[in-house]
Parts: sequence; C-alpha cells; structure tokens
Amino acid sequence: MTAFTLTFLALLALTTLIRLWLGRRHIAHIHAYRAAVPPAFSHTISLEAHQKAADYSTAKTRLAMTESVVQAILLLGFTLGGGLQWIDASWLAVMPGSELLRGALVILSAFVVGSLIDIPIDYYKTFVVDERFGFNKMTRSMFVADLVKHALLGLTLGAPLLFAALWLMNGAGEWWWLYLWIVWSVFNLLMLAIYPTFIAPLFNKFSPLADESLKSRIEALLAKCGFRSQGLFVMDGSKRSSHGNAYFTGFGAAKRVVFFDTLLERLDADEIEAVLAHELGHFRHHHVMKRIALMFAVSFGGLALLGWLVGQPWFYTGLGVAGPSSHMALLLFLLVSPVFTFLLRPLMSGYARKNEFEADAYAAAHSSAPHLIEALVKLYRDNASTLTPDPLHSAFYDSHPPASIRISKLEAA
Ligand SMILES: [Zn+2]
Repeated sequence: MTAFTLTFLALLALTTLIRLWLGRRHIAHIHAYRAAVPPAFSHTISLEAHQKAADYSTAKTRLAMTESVVQAILLLGFTLGGGLQWIDASWLAVMPGSELLRGALVILSAFVVGSLIDIPIDYYKTFVVDERFGFNKMTRSMFVADLVKHALLGLTLGAPLLFAALWLMNGAGEWWWLYLWIVWSVFNLLMLAIYPTFIAPLFNKFSPLADESLKSRIEALLAKCGFRSQGLFVMDGSKRSSHGNAYFTGFGAAKRVVFFDTLLERLDADEIEAVLAHELGHFRHHHVMKRIALMFAVSFGGLALLGWLVGQPWFYTGLGVAGPSSHMALLLFLLVSPVFTFLLRPLMSGYARKNEFEADAYAAAHSSAPHLIEALVKLYRDNASTLTPDPLHSAFYDSHPPASIRISKLEAA
C-alpha cells in the first residue's frame, strides 16, 4: 500500500469520524436544551415550536450522519474496491475505440451510480422527515418529474462541458488545464446569467409581485439604497415545501428580487422590507461577486493541481485504478477532492457567516433592526430551525450564524 493510499484512507476515516462526532454533539446539545425555550425567545417562540425545531433538527442530523457513512462506503467501493476500474474496463470491452466518448460514458456511469444512492436519501428526507413535520408539499409524481428535469438539464448543460474538458485534456498540450479553466469560468458566468430567466422557471412559476402597496414600499427601499432591478417576483415555493425564503438573483442589469410566496404569507410589510434590506446588503457588499472571484481562484488552483496529477501514475494506482487516462484523472479528482478539503470547511462557513453579519448590519442601517429580528424569529419558528445548535457543529457547517448570536448583534445595532 502506497503512502498516498494511506493518506487517502486516513483522511477519509478522519473526515467521516469528525462528521459523525459533530452530528452526535449537535443532537446531544439540542436534546440538552429541549426542555425549555431559551430566555431570549421565551416571549416569541412557544415551547411546542421549540421542541418541534429540536426534533426536526435531530431527524435531519441523523439523516446527514447516515449519508456521510454511505458516501464513505461508496467512495471506497469506487476507488480501492475497484468499482471505477470495473466501469472503465466494461466500457473498454464494449467500445475499444473512440476514447473521448468512452471517457464521457465512464464518468456518466459513475455519476449515475452515485445518484442511485442519493435519490433514496433525498426521497426519505422529503417524504419521511419533512412529511412528518408537515413541511413537505411535494407529490410523488412531482418528485419524479423533478428528477427527470434535473437529469435532462444536467445532460444538456453538462455533456458539452464534459466533452470539452476531455477534448482539451487529450489534445491541447501541457496548458490544457488553463484552457479548461477559461472554459469553466465562462460556463459558470453563462449559467449565472441564464439561471433566473431560463433555468429557474423550469422548476417554479415566477409572477410579478401583485400587491401594489408592498410593491411601492419595496421600490422606495430600492431607490433609497440606490438599486435598480429587473422587477420583483413571487415564486411558488409552496408547491414543494412550506419553508420560506427570499433572494436576489442575477447580476448586472439582469438583477431580480424573488420572494417565496410562503414568505409573503407570513411576514408583514415591515418585516418583508427588512428581509429585502438584508439581501440588498449582500449586494452592496459585493458578496456575490466575491464568491464568484473566490470560486474562480479555487478552480484555477484545482485545475493546475489536476494538470500535474494527470501525469503521476501513483495518483491512479493509489486509488485503485490500473493506469493513467484523462477521464479517470478527472473522475478521481472530482470524487476524492472533498476528502482532502473537508477540514477547510470551517473557514468557508466562517466566511459565509461574516457576510451574513455584514448584510444584517446593512439592513439595520437602511431599514430596521427590530423588524429584521421579528422576521428572523418568525422564519426560525416556521422553518423549525433549532435555536440551540452545537457551537462546533455550527462552526463547521452553518452558512448563517446561530439565531441567538445574530439577534443579539442586531439588538446592539
Ligand atoms: Zn443573508
């Protein structure tokens, strides 16, 4: 067994154990605080809602723990278990020529196997966990229709990208990874540009905001903050789930504000304005652009690394694959890189939480901190988000700060 194989196994074991340990801590912490509503929320959240949030978070955490074990087993089966080698050999027997097409089919087959494992987990989350807590609004036929749509969309957009990647890897010389980085970056910018108008409408209906008084209030806030958008839209989020949300999408002139219908139902005009001000804060602080820039930098580093790994025989043999090929290098890299980057996760989550604080501060300055607090409390309550997460679990995973910290900062604003 090579040093690389040992490192991979050690990190996979460590990552999986940390995920399980964090999950157990989280559940124990929630359980310890389940009996009483935290004092800061005792006037706004009922004991019943608090306990529902505790039970829902526990159920979701258990599922995530199961998922991390299943993923680790699948990854072992693919690599050292010889799964990828078998897929590769099987396609080679069927079509010995046409390296490009064969490479794409090998990668596609591995993705199909991966989804066969993800689909039941997703099904369980929707129809067992969310159903039990009254959040699920999906029917089985909608679930299947979504799957088919996602698969077709993935093929339409992903197949050309995959062919481009393999074609560059096979024939563009030693700088292929740089060309691929350019293609990948352009592809991502294109996706961001077409997502609001072409992709999102495949899954949801977007209608212009009809409530005239709310509309004029929101437009006044946009004007006050110096924003122009391509319209205010309501999305039929209630079709799938009763969770509420609001977001800003697109960039440049194609910006639009999207409210989930479930959010508009539950918040009053003051609270909606405060939530929108928070979203504007993300825009004003260029969080979207910064995230895109970070993604470009990370993919540049990743592809440069892959450009080197492609020519290292130990990279293949150390992960259970007999010999070098472009498609195997790409596939192995996509599959195993999360194992090598998991420990960086608190950094990414911490950065995301810092952005949330900045957006909250912007909302406090341009709208109203008390209204944002009211809105957050309602959202935490209605989404059954726990008020008492384990601090370490939260540091690893949460893109949003825990409610109590977020609210106490707003109170101080
Ligand atoms: Zn935010």
